[in-house]
Amino acid sequence: MPTIREALRRAAARLEAAGVPEAPNDAALLLSHVTGEPPLNLRADGGRPLGLEAAAAFDALVARRETREPLQYILGEAPFMGLTLGTAPGVLIPRFDTEALCQQALARMTGRERVLDLCTGTGALAVAIGHRFPGARVFAGDISPQAISLARENAARCGVSLDARLGDLFAPFAGETFDVIVSNPPYIPTGDLAGLQAEVKKEPALALDGGPDGLALYRRIAAEAPAHLAHGGWLLLEIGSDQAAEVGGLLAADFEQISVYADLNGLDRVVAGRKK
Ligand code: GLN
Repeated sequence: MPTIREALRRAAARLEAAGVPEAPNDAALLLSHVTGEPPLNLRADGGRPLGLEAAAAFDALVARRETREPLQYILGEAPFMGLTLGTAPGVLIPRFDTEALCQQALARMTGRERVLDLCTGTGALAVAIGHRFPGARVFAGDISPQAISLARENAARCGVSLDARLGDLFAPFAGETFDVIVSNPPYIPTGDLAGLQAEVKKEPALALDGGPDGLALYRRIAAEAPAHLAHGGWLLLEIGSDQAAEVGGLLAADFEQISVYADLNGLDRVVAGRKK
């Protein structure tokens, strides 16, 4: 029977050979998922034997990660804004970068607003906003049925009341207006998809592919959002780091106070504008 230390070392070597970044870290998190013990406990007390059943379960998870399946799909969860959200293959994994957009939305709210999250995916933005402001009325839309059911699950898991609707952008919200609209739409140019990290290529293209120039969804949102925003309402969009000028330009006709915010890596990540 291998010890925990040996099992971790072998798993890390396998993952390293498969090109997994931070292989030892992922090995520890996968074993922690199997045994239920915090990774640091496993490391600190690594001389214990790993039972055969746990070793087999660990091996199966390492084999999945070797194929470059994202860690968060294997663990079934990911952190966002201090919450733990469920993940599922077929739905984009919440990104730390997207917390910048969430912070900007929260900073503009008093807590009683009607808020819409378009292209909600796991529901990360909608759930985090509803969690911070229980008095807000929070709505979410997505074209993916898998996303809508996961967003509902995540809202329930976090004790947030969320009205999540299936459909293409504003289609399920005909005739409705909001005080704040947030969105992290697909924004990667189609031609760049093939060059993405192996893990990101296991995520749904539907959530990533922003059309030939990456701006297809921004064009539609910029055109359709004004009719769904109250006077003085805010539109906040996550952007690719080289898209600030173009997205700002798309908002110029109907929005004022257009501002760009960086993520913690210093890359432009958010464009916000207020309806004229
Ligand atoms: N930031 C994501 C990535 O680079 C893209 C998310 C999106 O297209 N909305 O993987």
